[in-house]
Amino acid sequence: MRKKIVAGNWKMNTTVPEGIELLKAVVAKSNEVPAEVGLIVAAPHTHLCCLSEVLEGSKVELSAQNCADHVSGAYTGEISVNMLKSVGCQWTILGHSERRQYYGETDEKLVEKTKLALEAGLGVILCVGENLDEREAGKHFDVCSAQIKNVLYNFSAEDMKKIIVAYEPVWAIGTGKTATAEQAEEIHAHIRKVLADKFGAQVAEDTTILYGGSCKPSNARELFAQKDIDGGLIGGAALKADDFIAIAQSY
Ligand code: PEP
Repeated sequence: MRKKIVAGNWKMNTTVPEGIELLKAVVAKSNEVPAEVGLIVAAPHTHLCCLSEVLEGSKVELSAQNCADHVSGAYTGEISVNMLKSVGCQWTILGHSERRQYYGETDEKLVEKTKLALEAGLGVILCVGENLDEREAGKHFDVCSAQIKNVLYNFSAEDMKKIIVAYEPVWAIGTGKTATAEQAEEIHAHIRKVLADKFGAQVAEDTTILYGGSCKPSNARELFAQKDIDGGLIGGAALKADDFIAIAQSY
């Protein structure tokens, strides 16, 4: 059985004290979330050390939003997988569209980062998704297949146990425009098929595939009711504990 997950991506928001308050509020309400729904919070690097103390003993797991593509050394400003591990991180998001768009994150780099993350014992939330031009040109299936193949086809079925895929149509991120449940479901089913082609039906069945893009309490229920949607990667709405928890209660 694949896991249901709701993950919050705080992006570059909150100071450390604000982040601690936000996580405390999430932790306080986390017992209102069904036991079978996992919660992950992806916070800025500066926050991780303090936050790992706040969530101790709770069901909330900690994620970074990125990691370096090298193990250690002369890479000023970068944060390595072992550093993340050492502050209690269990996950890292990789390939978020903002990183692909603004920081030149390529699929080749993502292969390196995914390798390092898995070797360090971190799980990976790999983001894929098409932009508006690609959607309007009818290329969304091909774009998502290519992103999955370019990165995940370099890994094994065993590795897939530590990898979550997040489908995030770029045109829906932070725009208030959500993909309809049908639009999201058809891509999720397609991604599962692309995974099945390489890893077999069982691995594809067991892989958690999240939807991300203006997901909020008012639309989460319909999205999560789809057969191949196993939860959400939540941006804006994850900055309010009540909304984040309400989304996680939408199953
Ligand atoms: C995201 O950045 O991963 C995201 C889904 O953002 P939002 O929910 O704000 O659209």
